[in-house]
Amino acid sequence: MTTSTKSRDVDLLVIGGGVNGTGIARDAAGRGLKVMLVEQDDLAAHTSSASSKLIHGGLRYLEMYEFRLVREALEEREKLLDIAPHLIRGMRFVMPLADGMRPAWLIRIGLFLYDHIGGGSRLPKSVGVRLDRTAWGKGLKPVKRGFVYSDGWVDDARLVVLNALDAAERGADIRTHVKFEGATRETDRWVAKLGDGSIVHARAIANTSGPWVGKVLDDMPAAHHEPPPRLVKGSHIVVPRLFDGDHAFILQNDDKRVIFAIPYQGDLTLVGTTDKPFDGDPSAPTIDPDETEYLCASVNRYFTRQTSAHDVVTSYSGVRPLFDDGNANASKVTRDYVLKLGTADAPQILSAFGGKITTYRRLSEHALEELAPFLPPMTEAWTDDAPLPGGDLPPGGIAAFVETVGKRWPFLDDATALRMAHAYGTRIDAVLGDATSIVDLGHGLCTREVDYLVESEWARSVEDILWRRTKLGIHGGATLRDAVSEYLTANGLATPA
Ligand SMILES: Cc1cc2nc3c(=O)[nH]c(=O)nc-3n(C[C@H](O)[C@H](O)[C@H](O)COP(=O)(O)OP(=O)(O)OC[C@H]3O[C@@H](n4cnc5c(N)ncnc54)[C@H](O)[C@@H]3O)c2cc1C
Repeated sequence: MTTSTKSRDVDLLVIGGGVNGTGIARDAAGRGLKVMLVEQDDLAAHTSSASSKLIHGGLRYLEMYEFRLVREALEEREKLLDIAPHLIRGMRFVMPLADGMRPAWLIRIGLFLYDHIGGGSRLPKSVGVRLDRTAWGKGLKPVKRGFVYSDGWVDDARLVVLNALDAAERGADIRTHVKFEGATRETDRWVAKLGDGSIVHARAIANTSGPWVGKVLDDMPAAHHEPPPRLVKGSHIVVPRLFDGDHAFILQNDDKRVIFAIPYQGDLTLVGTTDKPFDGDPSAPTIDPDETEYLCASVNRYFTRQTSAHDVVTSYSGVRPLFDDGNANASKVTRDYVLKLGTADAPQILSAFGGKITTYRRLSEHALEELAPFLPPMTEAWTDDAPLPGGDLPPGGIAAFVETVGKRWPFLDDATALRMAHAYGTRIDAVLGDATSIVDLGHGLCTREVDYLVESEWARSVEDILWRRTKLGIHGGATLRDAVSEYLTANGLATPA
């Protein structure tokens, strides 16, 4: 009998392989619980790969008086920089002052709070700068002054995969392309039906299905009922580089929102995001022409290089499943996460609404605190200083590690050594091992890397490899796509799509 047809008994069934689901699975498995996670598609297939990729407190949320969220997110930023130093890096953000927008004194106060509310940071503090006389202002239309502050940046999809990997290494059963189809109560267990035909008995369920959080509850008549989440779509465009340098820009808009312009994949700029109420199918949201126009207009106001829809190299959209706090304005609905317990007794279900990539680790701890009375005894919280896979970098940090990678595998070109050091950290050994040469499928993606992604990181298709495990699809185009597809087919590795 294969695992898929067997009936299994677990302590915790996690629904959804986004950042919150994999974070909970990792935390719970590390505390000794028997955990299964099911993801209907690929890991990070939805919202968790469609973010702005900021590990941040959310400067804008200060204006919305979301102090709890900002404080927690800033504390988390520091912890994540520690546990994933390969994947997450500090970035400087330039905010030009603009006529008719927030006055300098208000921004100064906001940034002072931002520098201190999380209890201090190793990242450089905020400063006021002259943009007309320094490199910070390069690429901008004439503007005299602005501010520079720090935040973090992450490859969001890889953060999810690393959590899944660690969860699996601690005993969790991670199943991708398996849908949760519903559950009924039976004494102290949920009896859950999965799309692969198997049945799972679970003492508790974590419903971290993102935009589907309401749909999953509908499939469990014996669970709680909450108002459906407020679905808010956010889109990004990727355009040829608008400015030089490693820093990003945070641009104020007429509607009081802010837009980020972030250096992306070497010669590109990532611009986002929008906030648009959404009532379509969350599985494949796409950008609307008015969103593209809005984002282009936002950057055109500030940069000398003008952008139009014709310049867009690619775009992506994601859907936030926010807790409905009754706010009429999509931009103002709370971004904080809300955890709701479902029943008075075991078996228990907990549903997660909203949240940020940045706060996934703390959300996971909170979820287990809430579920603890309904689960077998477990060990203490442990994730705040335990490196994610590959994050145990030797002294010298990521810069020294990139050099070591270049020396150990001298056949890698500089860009590939840099990319792989950041993506895999010390796990690069598991990818390249004793290789003395590689078979390059294009843009530095070698067959060994594809083998590793399929064998160890649940990759199945071209898209999993080129858009989520790596971001090479953006450069490689059809040629790389075909090469990966051919390799997967020839080696019976996966289902190319
Ligand atoms: C445009 C945008 C920009 C953002 N920018 C940032 C940012 O810069 N920084 C930040 O910290 N946060 C950001 N966020 C927020 C962040 O992306 C989300 O809070 C986070 O990704 C939510 O993760 P999740 O795991 O809850 O949901 P998801 O990533 O959507 O995961 C839920 C998963 O559940 C699966 N699922 C659903 N139903 C079932 C079922 N029946 N069976 C099995 N699986 C199922 C889905 O397939 C999905 O993969 C942004 C969000 C958006 C939309």
